[in-house]
Amino acid sequence: MLDLLITGARLADGTGAPLHRADVGALDGRVVLLPPSGPSPHGYGPAPGSPSPQGYAPGAGSQPDPRARVVLDGAGMVVAPGFIDVHTHSDAASLFGPEFAELAAAPVRMGVTTEICGNCGSSLFPALPERLEELSRSSRTSFGGRVPIFRDFAGFAEAHAGAPRANHLASLVGHGTLRAGVVGYEDRAASPYELDVMCGLLGDALAAGAAGLSTGLIYTPGTYGGTDEVVALASVAARYGRPYVTHLRDEMARVEEALEEAAEIARRSGAALHVSHHKTAGRHAWGRTERTLARLAELRAGGMDVTCDVYPYTAGSTSLSAMLPPWANDGGTPALLERLRDPAQRDRMRHAIAEGVPGWENTVGNGGWDLISVASAVGHRELEGRTIASLGGDPVDAAAELLLAEGGQVTIISHSMREDDVRRVLAAEFTMIGSDGVPKPGRPHPRIAGTFPRVLGHYAREEGLLSLEAAVHKMTGMAAGRFGLAGRGVVRDGAHADLVVFDPAAIADAATYADPLLPPRGMAAVVVAGEPTVAGGEPTGATPGGIVTP
Ligand SMILES: [Zn+2]
Repeated sequence: MLDLLITGARLADGTGAPLHRADVGALDGRVVLLPPSGPSPHGYGPAPGSPSPQGYAPGAGSQPDPRARVVLDGAGMVVAPGFIDVHTHSDAASLFGPEFAELAAAPVRMGVTTEICGNCGSSLFPALPERLEELSRSSRTSFGGRVPIFRDFAGFAEAHAGAPRANHLASLVGHGTLRAGVVGYEDRAASPYELDVMCGLLGDALAAGAAGLSTGLIYTPGTYGGTDEVVALASVAARYGRPYVTHLRDEMARVEEALEEAAEIARRSGAALHVSHHKTAGRHAWGRTERTLARLAELRAGGMDVTCDVYPYTAGSTSLSAMLPPWANDGGTPALLERLRDPAQRDRMRHAIAEGVPGWENTVGNGGWDLISVASAVGHRELEGRTIASLGGDPVDAAAELLLAEGGQVTIISHSMREDDVRRVLAAEFTMIGSDGVPKPGRPHPRIAGTFPRVLGHYAREEGLLSLEAAVHKMTGMAAGRFGLAGRGVVRDGAHADLVVFDPAAIADAATYADPLLPPRGMAAVVVAGEPTVAGGEPTGATPGGIVTP
């Protein structure tokens, strides 16, 4: 007898193949495909009186079926592989207490059964033991500075083994963490010995199960690493057959040069290249995806293994300190706070933002403080949702005072992209979906709760930008292939039983900038390792998830 059976649904199997009828079962965490059990009582579409997605629960509306212990009536629904979110910052979300439960649950509620964290150069490991303390003080992904940093992948995996979670988690090795864990936060080149140590720690982590190397070349200390340093590290990733995943050195006016640097790193290292949250942001770069996507297609035609991901919104989200010039962050958070207290240093920052600094992205100079709003400031809840420009006085002073009051930990939302660029990236055949969700309290970017339903509902069904099957493929099979997650991202006999069941006519994101954690509509069930973790749109409380490795 099967553990679970979904009857009467149409299957989007993750390969991009056309929808077809199949009954999908699960036994011991693996998929068992059965021929369709004949026309469902309701036929293909939801008939009048059929259970609404929100009222949908295990066994609801179905007859007892001798084939399985739990039966989900999938009439009118689509069953697909669980979504693989290739770009998250959920590294530590499940390690914290119940006050973060709603944030930690948002991804699985939108159908994500595997999250890939360790992105943008920031992971929770590895570091030399003598650097651990310093890293914990400066970590960019911190919840009020409490984020743990581990010596190695084993420490990271062990911490997660003791923290129940609904979905699975895989992690990249962040270059920024690796650099801070060996060199510290200084603005200088790594010595040949230090680079050797970094390569050794990276190799150990990849051998232990990390899924690739990531960089965040706009963030300190990653930005202090030059092209040659990244080539040396990406060469280690190449030896393990893992991708080089990059938040480019510039996603604004100099995005094309930054893309060429990434291509050079891939060419010289031999690593596969994956461009994170591809965008051309800021008014000087709007429309530039016509050129960057053509360049990516050209590189692929030339034999380079290159892909990218995107989130379906025209606003981004990052830390407020990243709005300041790189030298302001030299030495880590304590040094930044010291500079912010000094009026002369603030004047230098004001000047750098107004005039620009060669090689620095300068988000504010490309947009303006009126396009940047506070997403998370734990000690100043009343400011969340307001723009920096609206805080009063000079905006650099307002930003500086807020950073000082929050110990450097402020998350912002930046309205910086144009809709045609987002659509162009989404439609490209080599683009997968990554939410870039940042699980911070306050008003986080709604992408953490809306990304996947928004692609399926708004962009596929309403706008017709891509077919449902193609959208599902970008969220599943394509992502599993890129990150080497064998047996995931596809529904076939013996695959891992990570599944979603959704109403194709109703699936939609509900999360907004004002109310960012509203769960999606039309997500009937989410199954992880054969166990329903969401049913009738609500979490079941089951925690079958864990760390997964390529
Ligand atoms: Zn990033």
